[in-house]
Amino acid sequence: MKIITLGNTGIQTAELGFGAMYLPRVSFKKAEHIIKRALELGITYFDTAAAYQDSEEKLGSALASAPVSVVIASRSMAYKMGVDAFRQEFEQSLRRLRRERIDFYGFHAVNQPPDLANVLAGPLDFLREQQEQGKVRHIAITGHNPVTLREALQRGAFAMAMFPFNVIEQEPLHGLFDTAREKGVATSIMKPLAGGVLEHKALALRFFFSFCAGVITPGMASVEEVEKNVHIFEERRQLTASEQQQLEEEAAALGKEFCRRCSYCMPCEQGIMIPFVHMIHMKCWGKPMDDEVAYTLQLGKRMLPALEQCTACGKCVEKCPYNIPTPQRVRELVGLLKSASDSPHFP
Ligand code: SF4
Ligand code: SF4
Repeated sequence: MKIITLGNTGIQTAELGFGAMYLPRVSFKKAEHIIKRALELGITYFDTAAAYQDSEEKLGSALASAPVSVVIASRSMAYKMGVDAFRQEFEQSLRRLRRERIDFYGFHAVNQPPDLANVLAGPLDFLREQQEQGKVRHIAITGHNPVTLREALQRGAFAMAMFPFNVIEQEPLHGLFDTAREKGVATSIMKPLAGGVLEHKALALRFFFSFCAGVITPGMASVEEVEKNVHIFEERRQLTASEQQQLEEEAAALGKEFCRRCSYCMPCEQGIMIPFVHMIHMKCWGKPMDDEVAYTLQLGKRMLPALEQCTACGKCVEKCPYNIPTPQRVRELVGLLKSASDSPHFP
């Protein structure tokens, strides 16, 4: 695989990184097996976050005897609750990852100006102290809003920026990549498959071979996924014109208002599983009723009592970096689930 250098840090890694956000879906034993295979195939960069349930623990356990050349990145959202909360979560990350030092540690979901203000109000100084003490090699920042991230990078305080970039979300091409390059900031790409909604996964990954985007970290939760992704990055075939068109057509059909399944909007006080709502809505809304749509609606039927409790409070919209209109989609799904009960496809 192609080896890249991460900004001005001098750290080198394979272009394909391992996104560990889906490790909570598998057992410790399986996680160990997957990560061992990733290491064998040349993956050296592992990205996780304190918010990803037991992902840090699984990574820490699986990488306990890995070579020192392995690079680990993690981050915390606790800066939104002040420096003490952030300190506690940082110390927890060290314990869970079983490391004396984390290569990149940073601020998770710095999306809006108030988030950046929270980072600058103490947590950034705290991480600088940890850096002086040797517990963090480099300070990172992640977010979904290129404008906020550019403003953060202009301050020169961050060695790495992580953000979504894919065939649907190409906004970082309009300034954010340039600012990162000017400042010598490494870039790490989250959601290369747009949160898993792009069906042509191989094409979606090959999209990156026309750019120098940094380390690409698709979430992986099986040996098969690791092997397939490594194969794509070893071949490193750029998209042909017709493949590019195929991918762009898929992106156009999805539009911008689709859920990336990041769960930042959770929890909902009414117990609504919001990413699941969007998954079912996307597969069923506006589609003719057939066996597949009926099957998907069946899966959603058990959510109906909770969906009917939606108060349209709008808290989920405030927390969503993409302003997805969840209350509207909940309403639509309630109507769909009720009317589907009359369909002959519905058992
Ligand atoms: S608007 Fe509905 S789905 Fe969103 S947080 Fe409020 S109750 Fe939950
Ligand atoms: S509605 Fe928004 S915040 Fe919630 S999972 Fe989807 S993209 Fe993420």
